[in-house]
Amino acid sequence: MRCVACGKEYSSKKSRQICRCGEPLEVEHIPGKIASGGTVWKRFRDFFPQEMKETDLRDLHTLSEGETPTIKVDELSEIYDVDLYLKNETVNPTWSFKDRGTVTSLIHASRLGAKTIGTVSTGNMASSVAAYGNRLGSKTVVLVPEDISDRKLEQIAAYDPLILKVAGDYGDLFYESLELSADDPEIYFSNSNSPYRIEGYKTLAFEIIEESSPDFVIIPTSSGGLFRGVMKGLIELKKSGILDKIPTPVSVQAAGCSPIVRAYQGGKKKIERWSEPGTEAGAIANPLPPGGNEVLRKLDEHDGLCTKVSDEEIMDAQNKIASEGIFCQPASAVGVAALKDLRENGSIEKGSEVITIITGSGLKNLRGKFDRQRVKHIDISELKEWYEEES
Ligand SMILES: *Cc1c(COP(=O)(O)O)cnc(C)c1O
Ligand SMILES: [Zn+2]
Repeated sequence: MRCVACGKEYSSKKSRQICRCGEPLEVEHIPGKIASGGTVWKRFRDFFPQEMKETDLRDLHTLSEGETPTIKVDELSEIYDVDLYLKNETVNPTWSFKDRGTVTSLIHASRLGAKTIGTVSTGNMASSVAAYGNRLGSKTVVLVPEDISDRKLEQIAAYDPLILKVAGDYGDLFYESLELSADDPEIYFSNSNSPYRIEGYKTLAFEIIEESSPDFVIIPTSSGGLFRGVMKGLIELKKSGILDKIPTPVSVQAAGCSPIVRAYQGGKKKIERWSEPGTEAGAIANPLPPGGNEVLRKLDEHDGLCTKVSDEEIMDAQNKIASEGIFCQPASAVGVAALKDLRENGSIEKGSEVITIITGSGLKNLRGKFDRQRVKHIDISELKEWYEEES
């Protein structure tokens, strides 16, 4: 593994996941060939690090993550005058793309001999790590902030991990937990942005390229892990001669917590902590994204785009996506939400092929808020009458 910023090398036989300089580590680039048929782990096996290649596919503890539908959406394509595809990650085993990276990071953890699997998350990653950790038969611990609502814990708790409420700065906990596992191989933290998590996220890029030829790939961005994974996958495909040109990456954040966009627009190379996150898109509200600086570097290297959207635009986009038959969580709607501005300011040209990742399911954020005007009341005796009036 190599530090993405200073280049310092680290052994993958140790569980260190962050460089001493504070920037993320990355598994070296692995060119390969896509095999035909089978699961993502079989088809793309060539692209995985040695530890994974040595892992018996039957030992993967897979729940059939990945292999998600790529859907061409005609009505939305027409609205924005582009060829728009949605990569529907809501159908993963725990209903978000996080599962792809959880599998690979837990393989790394098992190879290192970890007995306890942990994560620092209150949302999709916690659910995913709890599900796979317990399936693997490991002791699993999820670190959450003290003031978390019970509602947020419901899915996580269903998988029966130890849930540890931790007092103190939740941002610091990310780093503290990684320090703990860097020093002790018995415990492994599978946090956002972990190098072996990125390896799993690569499969998203591979699937995208198998099923479409996008000019733009839009990526909802929080910690930066998903962005890094998709980019690493695309770069490896290019290095393997499978992809001629890397599509333009587009990183989108919610305006209420957009430290990466702020740095990008200010021409800065380093992100700064967002002081008070406030957005309905809670799944992408990391105030100090550990992969943020690397996202900035990759945007720079690949002439990417970086933009933010308001909660109003997010909610509108969530409805538009639902009108195509997919109920996604607010964080997942930011890609569609960004399209209007990106088209209007000419960043995305008319007729371009665009794919946006629908990262997680709307069932994750049920809040009892919907348009009650849609609900009408009638008596059973009035059913026929109602129908006649309707038609
Ligand atoms: C985790 C997550 C993201 C962002 O991924 P990062 O790797 O943190 O950038 C986007 N959408 C949803 C629904 C997520 O759970
Ligand atoms: Zn470094």
